[in-house]
Amino acid sequence: MPELPEVETIRRDLERHLRGARVAGVRVLRPEVVVGASPAEFDRLLRGGRFLRFARRGKYLLFEVEVPDEAAAAALRRGRGARQGRAGSGAADAALHGTPSVASAKGCVPGGREPAASAPLGAARRPRRRWLAIHLRMTGRLTLARRHEPLPPHTHVVWELADAGPWEELRLSDPRRFGRVYLLGRSPLGRGPGLRAGDGARRQRDAGMPPTARSAGAGARSLQAAGGDPGRPDPTPPERRGDPDQPGPRPPEWRGDPGRPDPIPPGLRSLGPEPLGRRFTASELARRLAGRRAPIKAVLLDQRVVAGLGNIYADEALFRARLHPAHPAGSLSPTALRRLVRAVRRVLREALAAGGTTFSDYRDGLGRRGRFAQRLAVYGRAGEPCPRCGTPIAALPLAGRTAHFCPRCQPPPDAAGGEVGRGAACPRRGAGPLAR
Ligand SMILES: [Zn+2]
Repeated sequence: MPELPEVETIRRDLERHLRGARVAGVRVLRPEVVVGASPAEFDRLLRGGRFLRFARRGKYLLFEVEVPDEAAAAALRRGRGARQGRAGSGAADAALHGTPSVASAKGCVPGGREPAASAPLGAARRPRRRWLAIHLRMTGRLTLARRHEPLPPHTHVVWELADAGPWEELRLSDPRRFGRVYLLGRSPLGRGPGLRAGDGARRQRDAGMPPTARSAGAGARSLQAAGGDPGRPDPTPPERRGDPDQPGPRPPEWRGDPGRPDPIPPGLRSLGPEPLGRRFTASELARRLAGRRAPIKAVLLDQRVVAGLGNIYADEALFRARLHPAHPAGSLSPTALRRLVRAVRRVLREALAAGGTTFSDYRDGLGRRGRFAQRLAVYGRAGEPCPRCGTPIAALPLAGRTAHFCPRCQPPPDAAGGEVGRGAACPRRGAGPLAR
């Protein structure tokens, strides 16, 4: 499952390739993947829109799209039908460029040209903003592609693109179908501290719109974050994972319309602080952990406590903080909490710098892979020697998942359930590639 570094890597890729690109149309092939609109509505509400920014909150990708008003969109559809009579971004592009009534919709003007004064729809028409929240869950994958490339199996949503350099489609595929696309009627970005909004201040509605695309000859550009191990699917029933982002048997998803006052899905609304933001401090963490007897590993996976951590980085952070994964969350000392906050930040920053974690068989379309897998100290390494002390890494079933840890560097809490025992000191602490 992609975690924060992988989702953030995808966000950066999308921003680089698609900011300023337009939505020529949307094909929803599997309706239950889109929440908040029927397939026809989803297409109608986004068609003609321009991607303004790509943000992220926890493991959610957030797209801000500026769309022409609906009369303009309707004119676009008529224009498309009249001109080409077939689907495709090229047809929509022609309609957008060639139909004055559509070009009059502010924000939809290619290259920032002024709306025509005589436009039949009138200059008072204002574009609207819409927001998409996308959660890839376990196996979701976003892929940039050319139209002629065959759709991968399990493709559920296709955004047809215009003004996107070599790219003609953004495709969402997901074999396990837990991934969701939420159409929101108001901004989920708010003023929430810690939001990684990818310099949304610089909204490029100007001439430099076509993104600096990489070589089109490279074929499909897969943006999947291979954050999970495909060979070892997590056997835990979703409802037992203590993660509000996980779909349960019947996920209580928001099904309202975009006009509703608070259309933000609960999993997004209830997210805790961003671990790389200023709000994620030892004292804030202490407040959130107070009184909780659950194992710290399980609590770190709770997105309401801290947003964006999953199995991999929780294990890695606990190893770096020298904390046993089963340590009762509410009884960690202030010192231990400071170590933990520091460890979480460092492991995420390093993973982000490495483009996330990729297991053996994953490549993107350009041959690029996340390079952090080689640097994992404990996750997926049960039985291998601890990089600090050489003790074999242990695997412990915990809260329905498997926790990986070094029994020597991360000793269990003492009988009183207090701070870790004296054995916490690691013989080679400060040595090796993991020391900072
Ligand atoms: Zn060790």
